[in-house]
Amino acid sequence: MQYCITLGEKLQEMDHFKYQDGKLFAEKLAVETIADEIGTPFYLYSTATLTHHYRTIDEALAGLRHCVFYAMKAASNQAILKTLVAEGAGMDVVSSGEYARAIAAGVSPDKIVFSGIGKTKEEIQMALAGGIRQFNIESETEMKLLSSIAVEMKTTAPITVRINPDVDAKTHEKISTGKAENKFGIPISRARAVYAIATELPNLEVIGIDVHIGSQLTTLEPFETAYKKIADLTTVLRNDGHKIERLDLGGGLGIPYNSLSETPPLPSKYGELVKRTVGHLDCEIEIEPGRLIVGNAAILVSKVIYIKSGEERNFLILDAAMNDLIRPAMYDSWHDIIPINEPLAEHETAHIDIVGPICETGDTFARQRLMPPLISGDLVAFRSAGAYGAVMSSEYNSRRLIPEVMVNGDQFAIIRARPTFDDMINRDIIPKWLK
Ligand SMILES: *Cc1c(COP(=O)(O)O)cnc(C)c1O
Repeated sequence: MQYCITLGEKLQEMDHFKYQDGKLFAEKLAVETIADEIGTPFYLYSTATLTHHYRTIDEALAGLRHCVFYAMKAASNQAILKTLVAEGAGMDVVSSGEYARAIAAGVSPDKIVFSGIGKTKEEIQMALAGGIRQFNIESETEMKLLSSIAVEMKTTAPITVRINPDVDAKTHEKISTGKAENKFGIPISRARAVYAIATELPNLEVIGIDVHIGSQLTTLEPFETAYKKIADLTTVLRNDGHKIERLDLGGGLGIPYNSLSETPPLPSKYGELVKRTVGHLDCEIEIEPGRLIVGNAAILVSKVIYIKSGEERNFLILDAAMNDLIRPAMYDSWHDIIPINEPLAEHETAHIDIVGPICETGDTFARQRLMPPLISGDLVAFRSAGAYGAVMSSEYNSRRLIPEVMVNGDQFAIIRARPTFDDMINRDIIPKWLK
């Protein structure tokens, strides 16, 4: 069976989830051993993969004055943040909740950048009071609000303005953010006017430009087009008298979800592109990768409940569902789904639909996927489940949030426990007239 052998080889390049002696391992631990203790389904993160990916992107920018701000919306467990903080990462936050999580994980406020198009007054106040490296401003109204709050609080707010360069990131429409029709940033044609307004407003300090064109980009061309526009804009704005010292180039570099067909650009190539397009400007380069760092650093482990034979197709029914991992339902995305026991080469594969137990046809992880034979009770792993996995999960169908577990060499730890039924139910409050 060719496909699993190829898969095995590719696994080694991407992460630390590999078959050894016929069993899937996470670093030095058999996934099955962890599953026996934790119960399925659960997310399983690999420390070595996480740090490896952080270092890879950090090294790709070596030679440039730069800082990596992990976009923590991709996965925000304290254990993940602390692992990255120990590597020297800063954080890109998009809400006061993320700001609080970053501070709790020990991130220094001068290594936190605040992104997002809808920062509220309370969120701005919290960041100004606690300390912040910069606000990435997305509209003139936001800029005016920030200025007035900074005046009130007798402080100065460092800002970049997010520019919408009108570039097609050629990614899924739901995660494309750099086209003129998208809600993000300020049109590049308005940049000079908006920077002029920023200078007029009190208690703002213009320090750079920000751009983020989308997520899961699988080619470099859109970055190249966008960054060239930003380079030109840097010159224009400097000629207008603005201080452009930092370029925040956003995140968005894609990862291989389908290990057989996808080969997104290497971080080193991205680094070369950054140097080529903006390296000459003597700016501090900031990047905000999320998926690239954590995407391949986790698997979702699930158990086969039933195999169901339908009239037209067969179904593999898992104990994980769309509430645990919504990416396939939300973005039509592919995850490699592999058995925990390495399939034997002589096993025949067959097409099967892989689904969860929720009463929605959308609760489908894969259609007509080629799989080796599986039976009830077998374990499977969704690969590349680290980014936009656990953070997007819900308790739909009153399915409890699934645990997060982290491996580090030959150790593992539960980093978020499965709630009890009481934990889940007791969050509801009965009004006094029902007591
Ligand atoms: C989502 C987001 C990121 C991270 O995107 P990835 O594709 O996970 O790298 C970075 N910056 C901003 C502003 C974002 O909204």
